[in-house]
Amino acid sequence: MFSVQYYNSEQIYSTLSSIFGFRSFRPHQEEIVQAILKGRDVFAVMPTGGGKSLCYQLPARLMKGVCVVVSPLISLMKDQVDAARINGLSAATLNSTISAEEKNAVGTALRQNRLDLLYISPERFNSEYFINRLKTLQISFFAIDEAHCISEWGHDFRPDYLALSKIVHEFPSIPVTAFTATATPRVTEDIVARLCLRNPHLTHASFNRPNLFYRVMMKQEFDAQLRSFLAGHNGESGIIYRNSRKKVEATAEMLQTYGISAKPYHAGMSDVDRHASQEAFSRDECSIIVATIAFGMGIDKSNVRFVVHADLPKNIEGYYQETGRAGRDGEPAECLLFFGRQDIAQQLRFVDEIEEEHAREIAKEQLRQMVRFAEQNNCRRIALLKYFGETFPVQNCNSCDVCVDSQKQEDATIPAQKTLSAIYRTKESFGAIHLADILVGANTEKIRQFRHDQLPTYGVGKDKSKNYWRAVIDALIAQKIVAIEDPLRPILKLTEEARLILRGQKTFSMRKPPERISAETKMNRISNTKIPSYEVKPFSEPLFVKLRELRTELARAENVPPYIVFSDRTLHEIARYFPRNAQEFQQIHGVGHHKYAAYGQRFLEVINKFCEQNPDAVKSLQNHQPFEQNYETSLQSASSSQSTSSSQSTPSIQSASFLETYRLLHQGKTIDEIVTERQLTRGTIISHLEKLSESGMELSVDLFFVPERLAQIKEWFRASGETLFLKPAVEASGGKLDFDEARLARIFLRKSSSVNQE
Ligand code: ADP
Ligand code: MG
Repeated sequence: MFSVQYYNSEQIYSTLSSIFGFRSFRPHQEEIVQAILKGRDVFAVMPTGGGKSLCYQLPARLMKGVCVVVSPLISLMKDQVDAARINGLSAATLNSTISAEEKNAVGTALRQNRLDLLYISPERFNSEYFINRLKTLQISFFAIDEAHCISEWGHDFRPDYLALSKIVHEFPSIPVTAFTATATPRVTEDIVARLCLRNPHLTHASFNRPNLFYRVMMKQEFDAQLRSFLAGHNGESGIIYRNSRKKVEATAEMLQTYGISAKPYHAGMSDVDRHASQEAFSRDECSIIVATIAFGMGIDKSNVRFVVHADLPKNIEGYYQETGRAGRDGEPAECLLFFGRQDIAQQLRFVDEIEEEHAREIAKEQLRQMVRFAEQNNCRRIALLKYFGETFPVQNCNSCDVCVDSQKQEDATIPAQKTLSAIYRTKESFGAIHLADILVGANTEKIRQFRHDQLPTYGVGKDKSKNYWRAVIDALIAQKIVAIEDPLRPILKLTEEARLILRGQKTFSMRKPPERISAETKMNRISNTKIPSYEVKPFSEPLFVKLRELRTELARAENVPPYIVFSDRTLHEIARYFPRNAQEFQQIHGVGHHKYAAYGQRFLEVINKFCEQNPDAVKSLQNHQPFEQNYETSLQSASSSQSTSSSQSTPSIQSASFLETYRLLHQGKTIDEIVTERQLTRGTIISHLEKLSESGMELSVDLFFVPERLAQIKEWFRASGETLFLKPAVEASGGKLDFDEARLARIFLRKSSSVNQE
């Protein structure tokens, strides 16, 4: 029988930090954990990387009995179990791949009630024998991962999942929880109904992924563009999606000939080869996987730093799920889509092969939405979230190509006039590719057939490349100056606006199109366009490389993927803060007791050796980097006994000051205590907290606010319609909120509004 036991916040938070090594919950995790601890059924929709595992693993640790986790892919269960074990949870799996010996050991552990988590595959529930065995155990609750697999409307339907409908009937007193990253309402309704969840606690998290940068790039000379992009991501893990097996092979081979470590993955390969590719990628033995969309579900690799779509995806949902595999660890990651109008025709051919008419129409409409997403000129994040029915509260996300490049416009009125005139002279009946051909004066069959070489506009754009003219046309479409009735059959028509431009009554400007990529300038082209808000917080690259090597070595010794040992985020923090002893090391993100015991010493050796050998590297960072980036150096000086007061820059003194605030905070001091101790104003201390938060430190909201108060302040901000400035909210509160508190609250409200707007 399930009996409710009371768990207090302290137990929950100490488990969060001692087991998982995290300082705070991600959005919704805490409420889900609480609901599970109270014995409720749960249904949670959270995006990939939202941290769903922790939602059931943490209660599984606290509650009596074993949590039975259903997960779709046997091939990934080992990784999941290893990851849980490395955190010090007691976890095991029962599936067809384990030996009789192991099976016995698991059986014993279960009988002795020693397991926190038991991972099994769904088809087990077809076995009466298995169900009866489960009934003899003390089960804390069921957790169904990737729950969308139960829905035929989802993109990953697995008939085996249907057996899970039995759970509620066979185990009426045990809570059932279900998790998915699928966003569509139809699928989510289906899941709740099929699992027969009983008045579940429902969570629908925001689908915004604040650490992902979205970029759409015109596809011109794909191979060179891709290599140029990769040059800016040297040694990082990434996925490149292509839409056919042949292209997967070709791209993987192309990269290999350029000495880039890449492996192919597609359904046409043998199981053995495919598995080998996946393993190599997962274990950082090759940095890039080139794959069809067959690659992805359940790949928990947290340090994927980029996802490239080399061809036009079929629909936005798929694009979103695939890009979602980047940056699960919360560190910045980039999503790049290569968009070429020539890909539309190819996708249309796939769509036309769909036999059933209704399904074909749906696929067509989804493709239209995808094309609109790629060609439009508004914030990508806003467009993506809108697709999932969400509104993003700010106009400029500052983390997509449109928002970041909107500053870099240049006048292109004359090229626009030339293009519009070509459209006019060809009686508004042709598409972008043919028009670009006319402008550059190409000699194509179509041009000869329609005698377009006789037009006055023929060849007026000879001085520029065809790609340049396609960029102009793309911009004209994006700005709705030329209209197309159907994005899938893009015949360009003039609008009223176009006529104004033609008559010289209006100007036209567009983003500076990328120059032609020549063989010589290939490298480092795209990487140079990095954006400040998107860049990884500063850290010592040479130390990071050393840490990464050690991580690989330790992972290999234990036969687990490196990201399970420590995430990229953990290594970035180490290379930023240089922890020099056990206490400092355990304050790093992702370092729980168990991991510290297993790996701490080895890492400390590397850090200490590096610091001894590279005092200059540390100093030079200090001299060259602006204020915010000085953080690591100042922590370094604050934590070692000799201070680096030799440094002339005031910034480091300031940063050392906010560091001191951080230290006191970590000793458990309140703001008021810090104010007294440091003889500084509240405002100054709060400004330190702002800086800490901006530099990526996760401050636990509970240290500063009870939830009701924060909710109240949030209301005042909302009523004032403003989060950038404090005054309106202070005024909206009618004297109940002062500037300091408003400023403090804004730190958390901003975070939660960028992560989660319900
Ligand atoms: P999902 O299953 O929702 O895609 P995971 O459970 O695999 O996500 O978690 C993604 C990553 O986020 C993992 O690397 C995990 O360690 C990390 N993570 C989870 N919860 C937190 C947290 N509260 N703070 C920091 N990192 C977290
Ligand atoms: Mg997951």
